[in-house]
Amino acid sequence: MLHAFIDLIFPRICVGCELPLELNENQICTDCRFELPKTNSHILPDQQLINKFAGRVNLKYSLSYLKFIKGGKVQNMMHALKYKGNQEIGEMLGRWYGADLKENGFSGEFDLVLPVPLHKNRLLIRGYNQSDSFAKGLAESLGIEWRSDILKRGVETETQIKKSRIERFQNMQDVFFVEKLEGLNIRKIVVVDDTLTTGATLESCVMALNEVGVKDISIMAIATAL
Ligand SMILES: [Zn+2]
Repeated sequence: MLHAFIDLIFPRICVGCELPLELNENQICTDCRFELPKTNSHILPDQQLINKFAGRVNLKYSLSYLKFIKGGKVQNMMHALKYKGNQEIGEMLGRWYGADLKENGFSGEFDLVLPVPLHKNRLLIRGYNQSDSFAKGLAESLGIEWRSDILKRGVETETQIKKSRIERFQNMQDVFFVEKLEGLNIRKIVVVDDTLTTGATLESCVMALNEVGVKDISIMAIATAL
């Protein structure tokens, strides 16, 4: 009753189509949910997605949940997630994709989700990393762990520079490195980012993980603009 009253004064709108939500809907309306432009790259491997990394890094899976279409609903969702503080949408998309993956036999394929970290300055301004909420939702629905304290971005410390070859490929502002964790090298890791365009960011993360001996690595984006 109270919700109905509040909806009347402050109509909640769908993040995808911006039409008013029904009382039983949250963030995304039922129409938008059923019309989500899924890539289905987990069912039918997407050659374009794989080719982004071909010959440079070894990946178990290259996955993207949605197709990013300029001016489309997915762009609205990504905008809300990145610039309007709407982390709930990221978590929902993570849960939904996790459920899709589970249904298609992916339950044992990953055991640790690592979101691509934001640069410290941007994190300070934005206040959150938009990939964290997706990682959280995904991990929750797959029943696995997610951690934001392993993959790091920024200026490396002296000792890490000595150990890493990554800095040759990146400028110092944009280096990825790994905080070591016992047994990390035998984990089945999936690195997640919000959008996948050139693949350069994810590739750098994969290289940083390779450097500490991790071999079973997949990458995943919420949306890709292929
Ligand atoms: Zn909608």
